[in-house]
Parts: sequence; C-alpha cells; structure tokens
Amino acid sequence: MSAQLSDSRRPLVVGNWKMHGSHAANEQLLEGLKSAGPLPCEVAVCVPFPYLAQAAERLARSAIAWGAQDCSAHEQGAFTGEVSAPMLADFGCRYAIVGHSERRALHGESDQLVADKAKAALAKGITPIVCVGETLAQREAGETESVVKRQLSAVIHTLAHCAGEMVVAYEPVWAIGTGRTATPEQAQAVHALLRAQLAAATPRAAQMKLLYGGSVKPDNAAQLFGQPDIDGGLIGGASLKAADFVAICRAAANH
Ligand code: PEP
Repeated sequence: MSAQLSDSRRPLVVGNWKMHGSHAANEQLLEGLKSAGPLPCEVAVCVPFPYLAQAAERLARSAIAWGAQDCSAHEQGAFTGEVSAPMLADFGCRYAIVGHSERRALHGESDQLVADKAKAALAKGITPIVCVGETLAQREAGETESVVKRQLSAVIHTLAHCAGEMVVAYEPVWAIGTGRTATPEQAQAVHALLRAQLAAATPRAAQMKLLYGGSVKPDNAAQLFGQPDIDGGLIGGASLKAADFVAICRAAANH
C-alpha cells in the first residue's frame, strides 16, 4: 500500500464462491486460506447461505472476514426463501454482496431493489458490496458510463448520508466468468468515473474501497490492483482454489 493511502483504502480482496462448495470442500479451502499466513490486504469470503455458520466458525479468530452473497431488502415477514440482514447480523456477518450481475440478470433485480438491499444491510452494520457493470452490448453501444452511473446513483440516493459506508465493485458483465478481463486501463477509467460520482455525494469518496471484478487471476491481479482507483478485487472462479486466491491477495501488495 502506498504511504499516502489512508488505512480505509487498504486493499480488500473478496472471494465470491457463488453456488459452489460442500462442507468437506469448504473445510479444505478455508484451511488453505488460514494457513497462508499474513496477507497484504483485508480478505473476505462470501459463501452460500448454508455455509455461513461453517465460515463463521472456521474463520473465528482469523484475519479473514466472511459475508453473504445477497440479503433481503425486508427485515422480516412472508418472504419465503429470503434471508434478512438482521439474520445475517445475528451471528456476525461482516459483508453482503448486493446487485451482482447474476442476480440482476437472472432474478430481475432492479437498481432500486439493489439500493434497498444495500440500505437494509447497512442498517444492521453489514457492509454492502454493491456491484455495478455494463454488458458487452452496452459497452459496444458506448453506454458504459451511463449504465454504471445509473446503477450507482440509485444506491447513492437511497443510502444518502451513509453512501460513504459501502464498498463498490465494478464488474463488467462481459468479464465475469469468461476469462476475458478488462484491461487495467479500461477498469481504471470506470473506477475513476465512479469515484468522481461518489465524490459529488460524500466527503468519504477518497477513502472508499472500489473493487474490480471479472476474471481476476493470479497473473493479472497485480496490474489491476496497481491502478490508482482500484482498491482490490471481487473474485469468483479463482476464489475456489486456495493457492490462486492467496496469490491474488498477495498481488494487492502492488496497490
Ligand atoms: C464474480 O462472480 O463476481 C466474478 C468476478 O467472477 P469471476 O472472477 O469468475 O469472473
């Protein structure tokens, strides 16, 4: 971390396990992460709901935080299948990913619903990791800026004076799980836009963590994390192998 970065800009690398794992496989993966020793960044894993308790137990007293991959916008009630922020907070959940492109695309989540989920998480002291990003068609149509600004704007307005408390993850949809990573310059350009948008809304913008996600691997992480407005990553596929995830975390020393 460069000397001029405040501690709140210490890089953060988050694993998004998506719908992968089993009790036995998770034991190995979590053990692999714990045995890696000190890492030059904050680290978290966002695991499927049934394995939150396992992560909480295995990561207790370690430097690795854990989180969920979603949370309901509602506190409680007749919402079958949903998991609320109060439930997550009940046993110490630190982060919740909201607005992942898979949820926006496959579950029809709107910008406002994503914003409401972020608000519900924050209300319980859970840091929302708010994902924004354009599809390939939107990028090719020159709409990247308007799409990510629209997505972020809904969250900024809903969180109001708490907007500075979220983590934002720029995840171009065309880079997620495709092996096609944004170049460091492409990613930095969008991160700079997002930080400028945040700066107009909150005095905390310079301290906020903006993560890049989309086919981050051990061999491209250092270049991405070396960009001035990229403060770490949201890692999907490569977070399922302890050695790869640890190597990506180590690349955060380049921030
Ligand atoms: C993700 O799911 O958030 C992600 C970035 O996936 P991958 O790293 O596999 O592209």
